[in-house]
Amino acid sequence: MYCPLQDPSPLPGVMAERAPPPLKAAFLEDDVATDVAIVGGGFTGLSTALRLAERGARAVVLESREVGMGGSGRAYGQIVPYAKHDHNHIIHHYGSESGQRIVDAVAGGPDYVFSLVQRLGISCDATQNGLIFAAHCRSGAAGLEGRARYWQSKGAPVELLDEAATERLVGSRYYPFSILDRRGGTLNPLAFVRGLAAAVQRAGVPIHERTHVTGIQRTEAHWRLRTAKGTVTAKSVLIATGAYSDALHPALQRSIIPMRAHQLISPPLSDNVRRTVLPGGHSLTDTRRLFSGVRVLPDGRFHLSADGPAFAPNGESFHKKGYRRVHQLFPQIEEFAWESGWTGWVDMATDAYPHVHELAPGLWSIIGLSGRGIVFATLLGREMAERFTENRNYQPFMPVTPVPHVRIRPFAAPLVSALMTLYRAIDRIELATYVRPGRSTAA
Ligand SMILES: Cc1cc2nc3c(=O)[nH]c(=O)nc-3n(C[C@H](O)[C@H](O)[C@H](O)COP(=O)(O)OP(=O)(O)OC[C@H]3O[C@@H](n4cnc5c(N)ncnc54)[C@H](O)[C@@H]3O)c2cc1C
Repeated sequence: MYCPLQDPSPLPGVMAERAPPPLKAAFLEDDVATDVAIVGGGFTGLSTALRLAERGARAVVLESREVGMGGSGRAYGQIVPYAKHDHNHIIHHYGSESGQRIVDAVAGGPDYVFSLVQRLGISCDATQNGLIFAAHCRSGAAGLEGRARYWQSKGAPVELLDEAATERLVGSRYYPFSILDRRGGTLNPLAFVRGLAAAVQRAGVPIHERTHVTGIQRTEAHWRLRTAKGTVTAKSVLIATGAYSDALHPALQRSIIPMRAHQLISPPLSDNVRRTVLPGGHSLTDTRRLFSGVRVLPDGRFHLSADGPAFAPNGESFHKKGYRRVHQLFPQIEEFAWESGWTGWVDMATDAYPHVHELAPGLWSIIGLSGRGIVFATLLGREMAERFTENRNYQPFMPVTPVPHVRIRPFAAPLVSALMTLYRAIDRIELATYVRPGRSTAA
């Protein structure tokens, strides 16, 4: 079974330019004892470690490569107040009480992330100026309107934007309708994850990089983690390895489908053009099944997050497709060749919901964040620390579920690729039949 841990692709240089330097933490050489051993140095593991330290518990973070090398250092950077599914789906899926707790917790997620950034003094271009969601078809518009009305009824700062307002905020006549959710925003994920790691170290939690955990065994009252040189003995363990999960826990590895997500970066836009493209500095996504986002980075480069090959690196045809999308959306952008790009792996759960599992007494995992990981990982990491420290004043919002067995995992590549081709075709038809004045042909 292919494991993304074997993917050698480097971290995004454009994000690294504006991020703290790599941690360069020492690998584990000794045998140590602690309260909680955390496997994985991404948002999930680090958020757990930080809260554990704040609650007075001891913890150790073990990272196979370097902090942020997983999805966390490669993300696009949207801080979204929603799960993949809308509030109705969540309430139907989890039941009204439990579902509502999830909806409300995620809605407050961006405030938590941005306040954490501020409290820890992390410099990561964090901007809570709102996210634009645009409609690519009639049902997409109806869905967005329903979402906005729901949140407006709860007093949330979500606005409906008609064609003129959308054109002003996007800088394009492509979409006739959108909503602006002022709770969301963006940040530089690599800077955030490195800043979080530095804060974890400052709080007294050791982080060991280049420390691959090869085995976890139950001893009488503890768990023992094996690495190449040292061991960790702990009362509890969190496996926070996301899409990069390997055979350390085979059932966990089989419970998700790792899928590649692709990012492209243009050269800096000229000042004139930059002023017309997303002039309020917002990030934009639309209701297409397979379209992720566009934004202008603080240095004036255009950042596209788009669907490409789900299991292979991208190539020339993906670059051309990405360029066509940008040009159709923003015809004012001068011709350019993509300056750089990167890919990372997303841990897709088949129900697209994050999962919290107790794999055995004291052995836990958070996985399946399904591309909405910055908020979920940060919240669920904190929540896991509350569980580990038995905080009775805290009520977890995410139920603990059994580990699903994804039977299609061995055939995931052809099945998912076929599904994506179908989704792209439906998206294209919906775009082409959503007729309105001034719109160019479907991207
Ligand atoms: C290209 C891309 C764009 C994305 N965009 C967004 C976005 O805009 N907004 C959003 O909310 N989410 C986004 N996501 C999703 C988000 O980045 C992830 O959900 C989140 O970073 C997952 O964090 P994590 O800590 O659970 O896992 P990861 O960050 O993947 O960390 C897991 C770590 O575990 C380590 N590891 C694995 N096995 C072992 C082992 N045996 N021993 C030791 N260490 C091990 C790995 O090296 C890795 O560093 C995106 C993801 C990608 C890939």
